Formats: sequence, C-alpha cells, structure tokens
Amino acid sequence: PYPPLAGRTAVVTGAASGMGAATARLLAAQGASVALLARREDRLKELADEIAAAGGHALPVAADVTDQASVDAAAALVGARLGRVDLVVAAAGVMLPNPLDDGRVDEWTRMIDTNVTGVLRTVRAFTGDLVAAAAEGAAADLVTVSSIGAHVVFPNYAVYGATKAALTHLAASLRSELGPRDVRVTNIEPGLTDTELGTHVDNAQLGPDGQLGAMFEAIGPLAAEDVADLVGYVASRPRRVNLRQIVVLPTRQA
Ligand code: NDP
Repeated sequence: PYPPLAGRTAVVTGAASGMGAATARLLAAQGASVALLARREDRLKELADEIAAAGGHALPVAADVTDQASVDAAAALVGARLGRVDLVVAAAGVMLPNPLDDGRVDEWTRMIDTNVTGVLRTVRAFTGDLVAAAAEGAAADLVTVSSIGAHVVFPNYAVYGATKAALTHLAASLRSELGPRDVRVTNIEPGLTDTELGTHVDNAQLGPDGQLGAMFEAIGPLAAEDVADLVGYVASRPRRVNLRQIVVLPTRQA
C-alpha cells in the first residue's frame, strides 16, 4: 500500500459508478478504509466485495444525498463501523441538460438538491470529524467534484453549470472557514469524463446518442481513474500543502 493513506478513513459519495467508484477503489488500494455512499446498494456491495478481494477495506452504505435523514443515518453508520472520518470526497452529482425554456422544474430541483444542497448535507454530516482529526494533528481533507461547467457557458446546460459554479464558490468559502483549522479543501473541476453521467439525459438530441456522444467522439474523454488519481495525490501531500483548485481536461477539450 501507498504509505500516506494507510490508516486514513474516507467517505466517498457517488461511489456507485464513475469518478466516485474509481476514487474509492484507488483510496482503498492506497490503504484507506472507505465508506461507499450512493443510492444503488447492489452496486456498492459489488464494489465493496471487489475492494475486499483486492485486500482493501470498504463499507457499502446506501444513502441519498437529497435526503437529510438518509445522510445522517449514513454518517452514524460510518462512525459506528469505521470511526472518525478524515477524508471526504463529495462526488455525487447529476447532469440533466435541456433548454431553459422547457421549464423542467423537476430537473432543476433534482440538480440543485443533489449537486449543491447534497454536497452541503455531506459536509454538514462529516465536517465535525474532519475538524477533530485535524485538531489531533492528522491530515484532514474535503474534496469536492465541481466541473469545468462552473466556468464555461454551454447552451442547454444552464442549471447544471449554475450548480457547479455554486459548488466552486462554496468550496472556496468552505476552505476559508476550514483552512484555519487545518482542514484542506480541494475543488476538482473535470472536463469530459467517461462515466455514467450522460446516461440520465432524457433529451435524445443532447444525450449519448446525440450531442454528448459526438463530443465524446471528437474530444476523447478522461477516464474516471484520471480524476481518482488526483484525489489520491492531493490527500497524500504533506499537511501544509493544499491544492485549492484543480481544473483537469482531456487534452483536446478547449
Ligand atoms: P456517474 O453518474 O457515473 O456518477 C454519479 C454518482 O452519483 C453515482 O454513483 C450515483 O449513484 C451518485 N448519485 C447521484 N444522485 C445521488 C443521490 N441523490 N444520492 C447519492 N448519490 C447519488 O457520473 P460521474 O462519475 O461523472 O459524476 C461524478 C461527479 O463528477 C458529478 O458531480 C458530476 O457532476 C461531475 N462531473 C462529471 C463530468 C463528466 O464528464 N462525467 C465532468 C465534470 C464533472 P446512485 O445513482 O446509485 O445514487
């Protein structure tokens, strides 16, 4: 195992697929105990089994970040089973593009509640642990997964982009509050990455068989493991080093 993460206890939201799953795999391979949070329990159990078979330690915890009681219950279970958490990776998110004038309040609400308030619920549940770990001299990290969409305007992605811009701003604010207490906050802003994110797009023209698929074809996406690698990197720096913000794009993405 990679020494800097041995003995660390991590929570990864969005661990059922994509970047969250890849990050959980990598952190476990580097020696951390990892709580796997997402809604699809079967997927979490599969991943936990895979991690255990590789010699790692993972705890599957079904949780919905849009539900406060669910997040609180997850935090209680993690505390009881793994103890104090010192690394939180908030990767759960949804991307539902559509023209603004379609007026899809259902999608707007879901994106805001998952991508913004969901991260806040996660932070609320685990910040006490991070601060306590840091106070005892341990490394303590909060990693948020925003998007390059926080910075660029892309037609039909207005609300998704707004949630990610909000998250980027929140991460900076959180860092200003937690940094003085020795908790590092890192906001990662990836570009196009090969995950399940696009599979929820219900607009055929914009989805994997339409515009999104064409972008993947033209640009060539990052792998989820490329983002996971960055999480492993930031968490294993000396405690004095905090990578505040990382924009990571496929080489061909403008
Ligand atoms: P995936 O769809 O593969 O992963 C998203 C994860 O979030 C899934 O594990 C899903 O599991 C979980 N999730 C969704 N809703 C909830 C919820 N309400 N409660 C708990 N978990 C939830 O996509 P990615 O890996 O790409 O997404 C990870 C993050 O990366 C997201 O925040 C996304 O916005 C961001 N991102 C992605 C980019 C890309 O090109 N792929 C680019 C830039 C940023 P389940 O459904 O089981 O709950």
